[in-house]
Amino acid sequence: MEQGRLDSQTVLHGVFGDPIKHSKSPIMHNRAFRELGLNAAYVAFHVGPGKLKAAVEGIRALQFRGVNVTIPHKVEVMEYLDEIDEHARVIGAVNTIVNDNGHLKGYNTDGIGYVRSLQEEAGFRVSGKRVLMLGAGGAARGVAYALAREGASAMWIANRTVDKAEQLASTVSGMTSSSGIGYEQIADIRGEVDLIVHNTSVGMHPNVDEVLIDTSWFHEGLTVSDLVYNPLETRLLREAKARGARTHGGLGMFIYQGAYAFEYWTGLPAPVAAMRETVEAALHASS
Ligand code: NAP
Repeated sequence: MEQGRLDSQTVLHGVFGDPIKHSKSPIMHNRAFRELGLNAAYVAFHVGPGKLKAAVEGIRALQFRGVNVTIPHKVEVMEYLDEIDEHARVIGAVNTIVNDNGHLKGYNTDGIGYVRSLQEEAGFRVSGKRVLMLGAGGAARGVAYALAREGASAMWIANRTVDKAEQLASTVSGMTSSSGIGYEQIADIRGEVDLIVHNTSVGMHPNVDEVLIDTSWFHEGLTVSDLVYNPLETRLLREAKARGARTHGGLGMFIYQGAYAFEYWTGLPAPVAAMRETVEAALHASS
């Protein structure tokens, strides 16, 4: 493996999660640092239950420049930061921390990363479009917020636990016409939808034969987007493609949430193509 420069000047970054060994963030960010010739490094940390506060203290004590936070820590971490970006506060989750001389500020780059990926990879313009969200968990919160801010004209949020769908609908109701529904109510609104976004883990490796909803009504006028990126093409997307819908996979969201984090830490444009190439190669190698 190519070895970057590591010395007493190296600027440190990392990701906190539990589990974390599957994470592609270290290879993606280390490739980006190498690409721009930066003396910086990024490492994965397994931060178990009850250890998050101490880990965040470690960012200050060891002068890490930046950290990503992933499952299950994105909500709890907000308690330990000095400042939270206004968008991350509404979303209710932080996935990126910037350390400015001991002052820790939290951001959420998941939603903006998703929208940038949707625009650049599927050519989808959100403004004025009607969206059906499937799922109302942590990732869905960032995506719903970003789509609403981008000008989606209506949003139906369907979730197994309908309370959570209603809660998320009320979070975005100041920006778009929104309602929380159960999956059985999709039949009532399906003629009105332009974009479907799948935000649950159904269909993710190793359960690749699962699909969350009936896809027999999908059609050419729809764009169907899946946050899952392992496999790169889920059963939902295969079925959508077979019915003529435009499809959009979850890898781009992962790349762009990382790109925005990289840009917060370094102040430099992220080398997105190189980051994507590295992650795609790793996913192909492990599939
Ligand atoms: P989460 O907070 O745990 O939320 C999980 C969501 O999935 C909830 O809406 C949950 O419904 C639903 N769900 C789980 N199992 C289900 C089942 N068997 N049937 C119906 N609904 C089910 O997880 P998350 O962080 O939002 O992640 C969700 C997905 O997004 C994961 O696949 C993750 O890999 C993906 N993701 C991708 C990216 C990316 O960069 N592409 C980033 C973040 C997440 P209930 O509320 O009813 O339990």
